[in-house]
Amino acid sequence: MELQPILLPGIENARPLLIAGPCSAETEAQVMDTARQLASKNVKIFRAGIWKPRTKPGGFEGVGVQGLQWLKHVKAETGMYVATEVATSRHVDEALGNGIDLLWVGARTSANPFAMQEIADALHGVDVPVLVKNPVNPDLELWIGAIERIYNAGIRHIAAVHRGFSMYDKNMYRNHPQWHIPMELRRRLPQLPIICDPSHIGGKRELIAPLAQQAMDLNFDGLIIETHAHPEQAWSDAAQQITPDILEYIMHTLVIRDTNQSTENLAQLRKQIDEYDAGLLETLAARMRVAKEIGRYKKEHNMPVLQTTRYDEILQKYVAQAAQLGISPDFIQTIFVAIHEESVRHQMEIMR
Ligand code: PEP
Ligand code: MN
Repeated sequence: MELQPILLPGIENARPLLIAGPCSAETEAQVMDTARQLASKNVKIFRAGIWKPRTKPGGFEGVGVQGLQWLKHVKAETGMYVATEVATSRHVDEALGNGIDLLWVGARTSANPFAMQEIADALHGVDVPVLVKNPVNPDLELWIGAIERIYNAGIRHIAAVHRGFSMYDKNMYRNHPQWHIPMELRRRLPQLPIICDPSHIGGKRELIAPLAQQAMDLNFDGLIIETHAHPEQAWSDAAQQITPDILEYIMHTLVIRDTNQSTENLAQLRKQIDEYDAGLLETLAARMRVAKEIGRYKKEHNMPVLQTTRYDEILQKYVAQAAQLGISPDFIQTIFVAIHEESVRHQMEIMR
């Protein structure tokens, strides 16, 4: 792909490219209040969703086209560039017809090739930067496919937005970062700018600063941060929005390291290791929860905790698989014996 950087006249090409604004446009007053504060802090690109994909019907689904007039007002008064989310060809036509400068495609849309193709078709022959959020599920190929559809429509100013991945298991994040996925995207498409969305990864404002710092340490190109004049009163994503003052503070405290290539690669590899280790821990915890569930079942049905034939079979299977995966069988044996011991310990506790 022959991608080009997202260069907008009047915006320095420095890291991080910053996009800020509310999750949703709610009222003209809320949009203008937030936009004026952000402009006074030198933010150049303003975001606001006007069509909101909500999990269930009946929630606040965005103000719709009237919000485009408010974004026009932001642009005319503050000179900021304005960005909004599009999910259908009608959204694209309406946004472009009303002077929206950047479009983003949300995580639910990028997971759907039909929707992506519809948007791509609507973008044929248009020159507008498009940001493609990762699909909700951790599928790098699907993300790249969504980006390719936009590229094939002739768009050359594309950026990826990493907003984390939805996980069944609860953890500290709203959407798990799985940093190795955007890192692999960078390896596959080195020219593609990658912007981090710490708001949707963290789901709570306290996590925005550390996540933004991690993104900078991993050499991300930009940040998109949900910012609202009165975050606690926001009509959507209230827990993860911050005020323009806090945004300014976070941006000032961010350390932008100008690392050389070799230590940068090392840092990225270490990040991947950390990511896998965190995944191992979460998997172990989930496994122990299931073991306890089995313990409760055995107790109710008067079954013994230890059923050795099943355990032997499993162990032999893993030891054989380990050899095929290039891991030493002894190592796998040690690990699984330890895991099994811990499971049995949990089940014995339940039996008591
Ligand atoms: C958003 O940016 O407000 C949004 C809906 O994001 P996502 O698609 O990442 O959930
Ligand atoms: Mn949001």
